[in-house]
Amino acid sequence: MSRPTSAIIDLRALRENFILAQKLAPNAKSMPMVKANAYGHGMIEVAHALADCAPAFGVACIEEALALRKANITQPILLLEGPHSADEVGIAEQHGFWLMLENHNQLQAVLSAQLSTAITVWIKLDTGMHRLGFQPEDATYIYQQLSSSPNVAEDIVLATHFACADDLKSNFTDKQLRCFKSAVDNLDGSEHSISLANSAAILGWPSIQDDWQRPGYMLYGASPFSEPHENAEQLQQVMHFQSAIISTRSIKTGESVGYTANWTAQRHSTIATVAVGYGDGYPRHAPNGTPVLINGVKCPLVGRVSMDMITVDITDLNSDIEIGTDVTLWGPGLSVTEVAVHCGTIGYELLTRMPARVPRIYINAK
Ligand SMILES: *Cc1c(COP(=O)(O)O)cnc(C)c1O
Repeated sequence: MSRPTSAIIDLRALRENFILAQKLAPNAKSMPMVKANAYGHGMIEVAHALADCAPAFGVACIEEALALRKANITQPILLLEGPHSADEVGIAEQHGFWLMLENHNQLQAVLSAQLSTAITVWIKLDTGMHRLGFQPEDATYIYQQLSSSPNVAEDIVLATHFACADDLKSNFTDKQLRCFKSAVDNLDGSEHSISLANSAAILGWPSIQDDWQRPGYMLYGASPFSEPHENAEQLQQVMHFQSAIISTRSIKTGESVGYTANWTAQRHSTIATVAVGYGDGYPRHAPNGTPVLINGVKCPLVGRVSMDMITVDITDLNSDIEIGTDVTLWGPGLSVTEVAVHCGTIGYELLTRMPARVPRIYINAK
């Protein structure tokens, strides 16, 4: 016997989502983003599942890149925040990591490093997100410095990141595009590639053309949009977060449930206790009414989320419920986005912070 709580990870769904990303921009290369433990899905397993079709992988830091190398991933690996210290430039050379450079310290670290082979660099421009990146007006000067350095390989990639691509009505993306284009147009004649699109841009802004797209969230089968979108509808949710009922009880009108007694039965009610809690990454701030899927029916969470358990109102469930009945927290039939909306967050956070306590069970590994 074991605790019934697990995250089933469907690697075929993952691969099909990656194929969709490629299909939406057939002239671009697609680099899967596997940072933060592949958004909670297991970085090594996800990278292995995509290793025969992905031209490169993207991670946040060198520790993640080294873990992929240790697991025999041989593709180039892009460090999205660039080197965090000068010594990481030498480590990148040694292991075939690519560096997304975004500030002048990083630029100097690359120019002054003692390297025996040239490394691939990307130049990140800040076109309006104002988090990382060089000023667009410095693009020409930075490009020239790098392209004339023996430390830097040919085909530098110019990149930027969109702040609002998930909002299809916003004009912010067009503003960022114009800013990027005017910075990059000044480099005329030079050999370079460009990289723009995250998941929301790949799915929702088909007119955006680039050489490298950087899909993350969509690979895991979740939609970055709050409204239905025809491309997003083709995604298949990769994670099925599931548990089971471990106890049931009937309570009378006026009785409360759980810590702080924050929910009181308005009628004679049946309560099911499920073996999942905030210790498993189920959000503690999930309010009463957050949907939990039991026998295909969305039932309301009632009472506070505990460390190891939640309580669900199953009074209206007509089907047979017993100890051991399966419960879906999110997965097929209940999107992580829907749960996230109830909790005032986004699916990205719920997936990414899933703790190691929840066993990942991999299915459809080719
Ligand atoms: C994480 C990340 C992405 C992927 O974003 P999604 O919204 O998950 O597709 C793309 N580019 C950069 C620079 C990132 O850090």
